[in-house]
Amino acid sequence: MEQFTGMKNFEHKKNITRIVSLVLCAAISVLFFGCRLNKTDSKTEFVLGTVCSIEIPKTKTSAALLEACFSELRRLEKVFSANDASSELSAVNKTAYKAPVVLSENLAALLTQALDIAHKTDKAFDPAIGAVVKLWNIGFDTARIPAQSEIDNVLPEAIVENIKLENSDAGTTVFFTSEKVKLDLGAVAKGYSADYIAALLKANGVKSAVINLGGNVLTIGKKFFTNDNWKIGLRNPSGSADSVKLILSISGKSVVTSGIYERYFEKNGVRYHHVLDPKTGYPVKNNLMSVSVVCESSTYADALATGFLVMGYEKSIAFLKQSEKMHGEKVDAVFFFDDGSWKSTNDSIILDMAK
Ligand code: ADP
Ligand code: MG
Repeated sequence: MEQFTGMKNFEHKKNITRIVSLVLCAAISVLFFGCRLNKTDSKTEFVLGTVCSIEIPKTKTSAALLEACFSELRRLEKVFSANDASSELSAVNKTAYKAPVVLSENLAALLTQALDIAHKTDKAFDPAIGAVVKLWNIGFDTARIPAQSEIDNVLPEAIVENIKLENSDAGTTVFFTSEKVKLDLGAVAKGYSADYIAALLKANGVKSAVINLGGNVLTIGKKFFTNDNWKIGLRNPSGSADSVKLILSISGKSVVTSGIYERYFEKNGVRYHHVLDPKTGYPVKNNLMSVSVVCESSTYADALATGFLVMGYEKSIAFLKQSEKMHGEKVDAVFFFDDGSWKSTNDSIILDMAK
């Protein structure tokens, strides 16, 4: 396995029951219509807090390469997790308001991109919101509705402007100008990890692959052994976890969905989900059920899917028009509304509508 860089040993900790139930919950499924031959090699494991799978053409080294990819995913989890007290992110959150902290290459790279997108989206996506996320603790047994005074205490200072990134001789450092800033990269870590794994696969000669990190899908090239696009199923946000509403046709791109139905708790008949509006500190409330973003960078798609859910449909469309004009980035999105309807910015990526 030495031919793959950056690998570490890791334990196999398969929890099959958990994996099966989470596979059913995945927001997006990759559909292979009659193409799953014995010519590919795949691996599925629970990592980054979700079910991750990677599929590549079978070769003599494909199994070792997949091992290397999952070893890297485990390492990245130890960098980015906000829920692991021993992660690099947790260490940064503990001390970066006292003095600048030197970041690892991966954390520096993701944080640089995250700050850029936070500014571009006018803080609809804001990685400085960690303290507010922790108050709600949505997705954990201790989830609760915080008192307004608790939100007011942290929200005004939990903003990207209070994060200072600098390049020094020692490397990239981060400094928080408020103690209320806690980083949360939950809305971009899977996207970044998918991009990172894609680069690793490409560096090892892989021309065709699908990386699915808990519904965050990134494709390389065309569908295995064909000249066809990949077919990616988008979940019906009003239906059961395995019901597909639309089928997208893409190649070499990422599809990332953010939805209000994924992680939530209910209290007195009200549903509180895990995407927060940084303006209110409360779960975002508009007529969107989910947003799927399609573009080359999975990091960007992940951040924008969360940001668009917060912005709502009109602002997202204005953002897309503006960003294409200014940065030439080709980004498409599919919006699902609470009345069961949907809208897409590009009908040519929609292959089919499932019944
Ligand atoms: P998922 O994690 O289910 O794929 P998202 O990519 O939308 O969904 O990320 C949601 C997570 O991002 C939340 O669990 C929280 O940790 C964090 N978060 C919530 N609201 C925001 C926001 N407005 N900006 C940035 N991060 C957020
Ligand atoms: Mg996201």
